[in-house]
Amino acid sequence: MKCIKCSENAVISLYRHNAGFCKEHFTEYFHKQINKAAKDHKMFVKDDKVMVCVSGGKDSLVLWHILHSYGLDTTGMYVSLGIGEYSQKSKEKVRKFAEKHGLKAIIVDLEEKGHPIPMLASRTRRNACSVCGQVKRHYFNKVAFDEGFTVVATGHNLDDEAARLFGNVLRWDTAHLGKMSPNLPEDGDTMKRKVKPLMRLTEKEVAAYAFLHGIDYIPDECPMSKGASSLEYKKALNELESKMPGTKHFFYLEYFNLAADRFEIKEENKDKLKKCLKCGMDSYLDVCSFCRLMEKAE
Ligand code: SF4
Ligand SMILES: [Zn+2]
Ligand SMILES: [Zn+2]
Repeated sequence: MKCIKCSENAVISLYRHNAGFCKEHFTEYFHKQINKAAKDHKMFVKDDKVMVCVSGGKDSLVLWHILHSYGLDTTGMYVSLGIGEYSQKSKEKVRKFAEKHGLKAIIVDLEEKGHPIPMLASRTRRNACSVCGQVKRHYFNKVAFDEGFTVVATGHNLDDEAARLFGNVLRWDTAHLGKMSPNLPEDGDTMKRKVKPLMRLTEKEVAAYAFLHGIDYIPDECPMSKGASSLEYKKALNELESKMPGTKHFFYLEYFNLAADRFEIKEENKDKLKKCLKCGMDSYLDVCSFCRLMEKAE
């Protein structure tokens, strides 16, 4: 296949756009998608202090690389989950990336804090991913608040978000459908704005960008991800996509044009927010769900 822009040999073919691109024009396409997402959803404002949530995987490191290259003030934030070799290797990737680019990475180590994810999951008899999500959310919010970041950026891509939307629709989970926005506003005093600049790019496109631009990441999946429902949703969407290119893209991106406003969350509960008695973060109860989880595990 040839590049549709310059007729050089294509390094990637994107069936959903019925197009192939050489390295230069794929890079141009990639940046255009990020700029469009950022502009359409008003993701960044002047003088933003951006905290980039990084896992050592391709999506978050590509995102950090790009936001830094745009001249934004960025710091990485990594939560080491205490999942054996996977956590050690991914932490190393984050450290090396930060060092190479002269950037700062904040590292929260759950092993050092005495509550690695496998231990929390077994003590509370809960699914590792749901515990992990809750713990990561807490530390992302806490660090962003404590360190004065104005916005939190995550590397969720089109596949991640389409799978999440698909799962929420299958369950008609209206509360979570109301939180699908790639630019979630601040919540209370302690939860900063959250943005997803890679929302228009697929996993395959992000992996290609990382490869073409020499971004070193951990290719392994987290060993705890086996059996996760999100992987099943991705599989089902990929099957549809292979037969009908563009389905995933349309399903997710058109949600914001055609349906999202029906699920918008009403502001009426905001005045019920108080401060958690243990950690000081916003909570609807006296003690927030993270601190209750810690109490249960102890
Ligand atoms: S797969 Fe589950 S346990 Fe592993 S990082 Fe993701 S949410 Fe956490
Ligand atoms: Zn070209
Ligand atoms: Zn708390």
